[in-house]
Amino acid sequence: MTQTIFMVGARGAGKTTVGNALAKALGYKFVDTDLALLCTSGLSVADIVEREGWEGFRRRETETLKAICSPFTVVATGGGVVLSRENRDFMGQNGTVIYLRSPASTLANRLEDAPLEDQRPTLTGKPITEEMTEVLNEREALYQEAAHHVVDGTQEPQRVVNLIMDALALSMA
Ligand code: ADP
Ligand code: MG
Repeated sequence: MTQTIFMVGARGAGKTTVGNALAKALGYKFVDTDLALLCTSGLSVADIVEREGWEGFRRRETETLKAICSPFTVVATGGGVVLSRENRDFMGQNGTVIYLRSPASTLANRLEDAPLEDQRPTLTGKPITEEMTEVLNEREALYQEAAHHVVDGTQEPQRVVNLIMDALALSMA
């Protein structure tokens, strides 16, 4: 298991939290695509969306995904990375994709508890539970399609890490 591990899931799924802990457990590097984008462009997701629209952001996100793909690395992707077939195919062919799955209510609770940790603009301006329900309706099938492993993301982070390690070990057996 030397390939890149890509964490996918909606905002609040735990891609950053669990991805970081998984990288530590495996002795891998950890990279967050939004932070990598900030490093290379000097712009936050919100800045890019404001200047270039979501389309500009998505194009830069695809470039970033390809640039940071390397062995022994856990990558926390942005929530919308699976919207692009190019991204789904790239991750599927160049790594192992883990979908951190939680219901909209869990995601909404987490985002309400920690609003400042995620600097992304909301997609719709609607109440957060409603927005997360819509986001999952739109993307659930894409997350599932992209993923090699679907993991219950409602468990506490260390438990989720263990579930992922089990899934990775089984897939190598
Ligand atoms: P993402 O990167 O997928 O948007 P984060 O890792 O930033 O999600 O997590 C969003 C919030 O939810 C953070 O406050 C984090 O502490 C919390 N969180 C993440 N994963 C879990 C989990 N498995 N159980 C409880 N809280 C979690
Ligand atoms: Mg994150």
